[in-house]
Amino acid sequence: METLTERLTAVRERIAAAARRVNRDPATIRLVGVTKAHPADVIRAALEAGLCDVGENRVQEAEAKMAALEAERQRLTWHLIGHLQTNKAKKAAMLFDMVHSVDSLRLAQMLDQHAAEASRDAQGRLPILLQVNVSGEATKFGFDLDGWETHLDIYERFCADVERILALPHLDVRGLMTIAPWGPDPEQARPIFRAVRRLRDKLAQRFPAAAWRELSMGMTDDFEVAIEEGATIVRIGRAIFGER
Ligand SMILES: *Cc1c(COP(=O)(O)O)cnc(C)c1O
Repeated sequence: METLTERLTAVRERIAAAARRVNRDPATIRLVGVTKAHPADVIRAALEAGLCDVGENRVQEAEAKMAALEAERQRLTWHLIGHLQTNKAKKAAMLFDMVHSVDSLRLAQMLDQHAAEASRDAQGRLPILLQVNVSGEATKFGFDLDGWETHLDIYERFCADVERILALPHLDVRGLMTIAPWGPDPEQARPIFRAVRRLRDKLAQRFPAAAWRELSMGMTDDFEVAIEEGATIVRIGRAIFGER
């Protein structure tokens, strides 16, 4: 059996190799360890192995682990990566350092309202990503952008929401997040990642006031392809922590 440290090292090496293939600096890619279904002790062990970014899918599950790891609060960065219901927006805004899964204007508005109460950086802003679904896969959450490159109305509808989200004073929009449809060959995800990157580039031109730096894409089965296509954040569970 490999140890957690060995698996983490192997993943970091694969991230670095993928980055070098496309002449990117591996240091610009952030690894989020996805710890859903694993107990707080596993997160503590990951932290000792040098992993400071933790991704959780569910607010309640994360809350219990955060309580158990209260003493490590300063060393850990908590990412919410799973679908968030608006009735949990308050708790999420209080607990998480970054929310990747903002998938509606309404949710953004709720998070904005509650981020004002949670004390954060000097400006009190909560970093968020907009989750987009460019594949049309019905099981995936995210702003529906299936066909945005051929249907201007789809893109314009999204831009109208983006404009309103950017105007929310307590959110800091950092970029986009996506989940590619699962398939046996990671190459199948490449066009999806590429389309999300094109969307990001287009938004950056249209809304230059926001940074649009981050692309959160790539999981255990497809993170190397995602990095080749521009991912700045990869969310990896099984390759580090084993099967759930
Ligand atoms: C579970 C999950 C991951 C990690 O998936 P693995 O295949 O275990 O690497 C990444 N992102 C999201 C949104 C997830 O739900």
